[in-house]
Amino acid sequence: MTETQTLRPVPFPFALTILGAGSATPSLRLHQTAQLLSIGNDYVLIDCGEGTQLRLIEQRIRPGRLRYIFISHLHGDHYFGLAPLLSSLNLAGRTEDLFLFGPRGLDEVLTTIFRVSDSRLGYRLHFQVVDPSEPALLLDHPQMTVQSIPLQHRIDCTGYLFREKPHKPHLLRDKLPDDVPVAYLKQLKNGENILDADGKLLYAASEYTESAPAPRSYAFCSDTRYVEELIPQLHGVDLLYHEATFMEDNAQRAAEVYHSTAKQAAMIAAKAEVGRLLIGHFSSRYKQFDLFLDEARAVFPETYLAIEGETTHV
Ligand SMILES: [Zn+2]
Ligand SMILES: [Zn+2]
Repeated sequence: MTETQTLRPVPFPFALTILGAGSATPSLRLHQTAQLLSIGNDYVLIDCGEGTQLRLIEQRIRPGRLRYIFISHLHGDHYFGLAPLLSSLNLAGRTEDLFLFGPRGLDEVLTTIFRVSDSRLGYRLHFQVVDPSEPALLLDHPQMTVQSIPLQHRIDCTGYLFREKPHKPHLLRDKLPDDVPVAYLKQLKNGENILDADGKLLYAASEYTESAPAPRSYAFCSDTRYVEELIPQLHGVDLLYHEATFMEDNAQRAAEVYHSTAKQAAMIAAKAEVGRLLIGHFSSRYKQFDLFLDEARAVFPETYLAIEGETTHV
């Protein structure tokens, strides 16, 4: 490895930890939906099923670093852990703002809980209603953007698409003379050539920089029936989570209750040409999750089970 390579800055972490991969029926084997995405120094919580705060403790994840929470829909298995978590953050003395995105009505539920328990949060909780009908840009963070993904479920339901912003090119510092002015280095990093007063090329950006790794993306598709309209929005994402509550033996049942099968999740992944597929939200009627994997891999080989406690780098 050359010196230039060892000095190259490592892109900031972009990793997903599964906290819960089960569905609505309580089970001792699987917890209800919750995922933690770490982007740089910020933690993003995606859905917050019952007991999520205990999962965070179990995984030694400091909830103080949570900055954003995205809730897909108001079925209890996706948000019944939220009020306890918000309450505990208050008990721990949080003062930093927290940003919550979710369906209309979520604010009413939380306001009622905190009003009747005479609780006051010592931090500001900013709530943004997510429109479930069409994709929208929800968050423009220095390192990522978040868009909503309209899903089709028994009640309004939204998925979320997290896209890293492009990185600047890496400067090949060793190729440049020591006395190059700092202003030039900045320009080169921005991809600009350095010219002298007469317009003659001094340093070409292409020669003294190398392109940064491609920006990464993660799409979370919560409870939904099979919806081909999602495919253009999901096209080419690096990692897709798509629910797979049932297998094809219960395809009829899946359609009736607006859920998907493992095969359907894989068909979405294949048609959207994503990098990898994670499936979860398994119905408690199944005992062997490997069968979900077999069914999905027959259509999309790069499929993996969402396993609680495992972290996947996007
Ligand atoms: Zn669910
Ligand atoms: Zn649901």
